[in-house]
Amino acid sequence: MSTTDLDTSIHNALPLNLQPTHYDLQIFDIDETNDTFKGLVTIDLDVIQQTDRLVLNVRDIVIDSVQLKFNLTKTVTEVGCTIEPTDVVNETVVLKFQEPVKSGSLKAVINYSGVIQSNMTGFYKSTYKDLASDEIKTMLSTQFEATDARRAFPCLDEPNRKATFQLSIVTRTNYTVLSNMPVLYCRTLDDGKKFATDSRELKVVQFEKTVVMSTYLLAWAIGEFEYLEAFTDRSYNGSKVPIRVYTAIGNKEQGRFALETSTKVVDFFSKIFDIDYPLPKLDLLCVPNFTCNAMENFGLLTFRATALLFDIEKSDPKYKTRVAYVVSHEIAHQWFGNLVTMNWWNELWLNEGFATWVGWLAVDELYPEWNVFSTFVSESYESAKSLDSLRNSHPIEVAINSAKDIDQVFDAISYLKGASVIRMLSQSVGIDVFLKGVSIYLKKHKFGNAKTVDLWSGISEASGIDISKLMDNWIKKQGYPYLKVESAGDNLTITQKRFLAAGDITPEDDKTIWWVPLNISVGSGTSVAENYALTEKSAVIPRPDSPFFKLNKDSVGVYRVFYSADLLKEISKNLDHFSAEDKVGLLADVNAAAIAGFLPTSKLLEFLLHFKSETDYVVWSEIIKSVEHLNSVWSETSDQRLSKSLTKFCRELFASQSERLGFEPKGNESYFDGQLRPLILLAAGTSGLEPVVTRCLELVENSTAIPPSLKQVVYSTVLSQKNATQEQFDLILQDLYNPSSPDTVETILISLGSVQNDLVIPQAVKLLEDCLTGHGRIALMNVNFLAGSLATNPKTRVLVWNFVKAHYNAIFETMQTSVILFDRFIKTLKEHADISIHNEILEFFSNKNVDGFNRSLQQALDQIKTNYAWIQRDKSNITEYLNVE
Ligand SMILES: [Zn+2]
Repeated sequence: MSTTDLDTSIHNALPLNLQPTHYDLQIFDIDETNDTFKGLVTIDLDVIQQTDRLVLNVRDIVIDSVQLKFNLTKTVTEVGCTIEPTDVVNETVVLKFQEPVKSGSLKAVINYSGVIQSNMTGFYKSTYKDLASDEIKTMLSTQFEATDARRAFPCLDEPNRKATFQLSIVTRTNYTVLSNMPVLYCRTLDDGKKFATDSRELKVVQFEKTVVMSTYLLAWAIGEFEYLEAFTDRSYNGSKVPIRVYTAIGNKEQGRFALETSTKVVDFFSKIFDIDYPLPKLDLLCVPNFTCNAMENFGLLTFRATALLFDIEKSDPKYKTRVAYVVSHEIAHQWFGNLVTMNWWNELWLNEGFATWVGWLAVDELYPEWNVFSTFVSESYESAKSLDSLRNSHPIEVAINSAKDIDQVFDAISYLKGASVIRMLSQSVGIDVFLKGVSIYLKKHKFGNAKTVDLWSGISEASGIDISKLMDNWIKKQGYPYLKVESAGDNLTITQKRFLAAGDITPEDDKTIWWVPLNISVGSGTSVAENYALTEKSAVIPRPDSPFFKLNKDSVGVYRVFYSADLLKEISKNLDHFSAEDKVGLLADVNAAAIAGFLPTSKLLEFLLHFKSETDYVVWSEIIKSVEHLNSVWSETSDQRLSKSLTKFCRELFASQSERLGFEPKGNESYFDGQLRPLILLAAGTSGLEPVVTRCLELVENSTAIPPSLKQVVYSTVLSQKNATQEQFDLILQDLYNPSSPDTVETILISLGSVQNDLVIPQAVKLLEDCLTGHGRIALMNVNFLAGSLATNPKTRVLVWNFVKAHYNAIFETMQTSVILFDRFIKTLKEHADISIHNEILEFFSNKNVDGFNRSLQQALDQIKTNYAWIQRDKSNITEYLNVE
């Protein structure tokens, strides 16, 4: 532990005079009808420095009684204390001692009453429909990260206040109870006590004592479960680790893929970190109501259904990659995050950036045929760069001043930019050397906390390179550079400058000089100047001996490259020489250059046309991302002819691949064609390509006959028709309310955002409105699938904004309990491109409390201004190029 160097002045840290070592926690009198429970917690604390108070975090908790016992060299004395009123803002309560304690240890025995939450935080209730009886059933589980352990028991709820925990829970005998550790014993209560709301017998379940860990990683779950079990291949301390996937009754078979992945991933990480999996078991539990994808509680991972369950017959195959990745990410945390934890939330990226990168590394090891790092480049690396090109982004390592700030850093910068800079560094020093450094770091800090600089020192030790020198600006400074490449004679002049999406850089914005590994490629895997890195503002290097070349081979470095017109022309002619990762990077850079005004938008459209015969699905997903953004922004010009011309451009772009793939899989087609089909057909169908539309209209008549991978294609295409009917809309809703697979709901909510006709638009928007005000049939946890989709649709986004303005108080009331969900909802405002809406949003929130989502709001406003400026700048250019008359 290194708590003594924690500067408590920079955030709301609790005083350091008392250090917790162990919690004994009993949860009982669980009343599912009135949503209450009782707890008894005994906290053992070491006295580090004289103090007259114990400050604990609490939220929604009433302390009923406290007993304090002070222990000094075998004499135990009781210390009187008063409970001061709870500080609701800082979520603390002070137990003030009658006399100060100076050294030794202290035991605080606290009886308290708590609330079973219904907002997916703390100790909370989920409901679901039982498959056999159709009855609505309840599951109780916990979600403590970041600061909600304090809603379940009074504690020192900070990541560097690590301790051991021993938990016992009293509940009905028919429930299964899970926690971080295996059950120590379980016995029926023989004193005649019954369950609060019915006459069932009660049992007490006591778990083994945990290892030393942070409060946010404690977890428990209570409900009617079934499970599948398998074991690791490797033995740990003489025995194989049992791994179980728990689900509600009737669903366990859908956990088989996650189970198979988990056993291999535990062995893989134990090997690459050179540290055995630290616990005697690992459980993965599907929780019906869940805000995020998953949570890495030590030894008890919790998931939303779509991140854990996969139905071989009925699930959309693309969810298989997601399950493999999320499971790997959460298992990676058992070492990186749980065994060694970031010292404070400002270094959250250490947990998340690393788990993201190494999660993909595990999937790549297990399923090399998926080529997941090309997906990573498109979905993670490019998303991070998009967000980080806004003025209101933030450095990877960010100041955290209050609990409300913490939730906001669970964003694309911490996860995706964090993972991208890790990937850049690991490729530069070599993955084996990098992992050796990680192992040094983990071994040195296990069961403790660490900072970014500690990771760098492990990698420096393994590589012999001063890593802090390379990485400090990447972690501590906001943004990233673009490189301007100019060729003159035998030389290239390369200059770095900070990239902003709006292209309006000022000298004030451009003060950082980054370490930029160049990795120049001349195609087909050969690269020159492999080890050359730009460490100055600009440099002159020898030009590769090739008519075409590309910097940033495989899109590993976190930067953009803008080539002169003739260099880009040579690259365009030689695309076949580059990897999928390279093509994704090129597409994203050309797209960003057009938006920022470095290149006329017509050049972007010309560049896209070079990819008509491309067959890689990740490259196509980047093309489609670019085209969708174009459509989303440019439809706001209200110029119908321009919109029509753009849609026509899209149809022509997608036509040949759409024809090649068709709706039916070919007998011996590649894995990539199987992935590409839904992507191309969706883009072609929603832009009105005739044969695709006709087939979708036939398929929608019988939803059970639609292959799972094509559900979104069919529903989105049908709904995007100007003459979609009420019957078609109702058929789709029927499937939404009686989902046939774990991912059906997400897929349909995304499809509903495609609506184009005045008959069904109000109905789709109404579904969102009802959900936002807590009255709909769509679970709040899924609200942003629909909100995000309606926001990218120019016909509906204004309706949603109008509703937000008119009913903000009701929406805030519903969503404030889950700040993360509300923050993501606010992000959807970024799709607007009208400056008057920008001003309305600014004005509207000027007198509102924006704690917990202010950064997303500022980012959305930045993005709207960028969209607007793009239209102003290039309207005549694009109109001319598309021959709009
Ligand atoms: Zn994570």
